[in-house]
Amino acid sequence: MLLCVLAIWPPLVGAAPAEEVQGECYRFVFNSSDFSESEVEAFAREAEPLCRQLKETLGVDRREPIPVYLRPGQGVSSTIPHRNQAMDLFYMRPIHGVPAPIVHETTHILVDSPHVVLREGLATVMEERIGSLKAHPTYGFTLEDWTGAIRCAGRQVSLRYLETQDWREGPWEANLIAYTTSGSFVKFLIERYGLNSVVRAMQWNWKGRKPTMDRVCELVFNESLESVEKEWLDRVERIGLTSDSLGLCQALREGKVQEFVRGRLR
Ligand SMILES: [Zn+2]
Repeated sequence: MLLCVLAIWPPLVGAAPAEEVQGECYRFVFNSSDFSESEVEAFAREAEPLCRQLKETLGVDRREPIPVYLRPGQGVSSTIPHRNQAMDLFYMRPIHGVPAPIVHETTHILVDSPHVVLREGLATVMEERIGSLKAHPTYGFTLEDWTGAIRCAGRQVSLRYLETQDWREGPWEANLIAYTTSGSFVKFLIERYGLNSVVRAMQWNWKGRKPTMDRVCELVFNESLESVEKEWLDRVERIGLTSDSLGLCQALREGKVQEFVRGRLR
């Protein structure tokens, strides 16, 4: 059930009043000069079942609605400014065919990890499985299309590199390679060990120590990182090039991924 109320947000003297559409899973906070109430309600009707499905898949029971601050224009959706308790969401309306990555951001709020590969990998897999393939970072391609293309273009990055650099603020193309590589690795972990084990790995209590994939593999999966990584790469190789990988590989080689992806989303 959706409920529209008028609220004051942010709670600053003289700030413009913001409106809210509240459902079971989300509380959408927006400014009526940016979005109309009916538009937000329509979005909420689409988003609520995705959230229910996500909670069920992850086995997370959260009663309190998640605050979603709807932002106009283009920008990077994120939970980080809200310490993972709420999200800023851009692209509420599909712009140039790109829907809002609401499943991705919700995954961060429901199951988080200080390990960047697990954190972004799981969110990318959930967006692919439950949300939209057209959202960031897959932009209309599957994770198999991406890994085939990355390998074919010679742009692979190692897990060690991914876990030691924060690539999220990096250049657009390198950022997509890092996100989709993390997604492919976490998808492999889910297939091999089950989603519950991956969620457990993410919720591991590190007691102040820095989480590394080495320790995750040994403590949670009882295998060395080398053997897990090798099996994942063997699998990527076995899948090889999908029918959609070739064009993407060419675009990566020529540094024209943005143009290529734009054509796909039209
Ligand atoms: Zn993310």
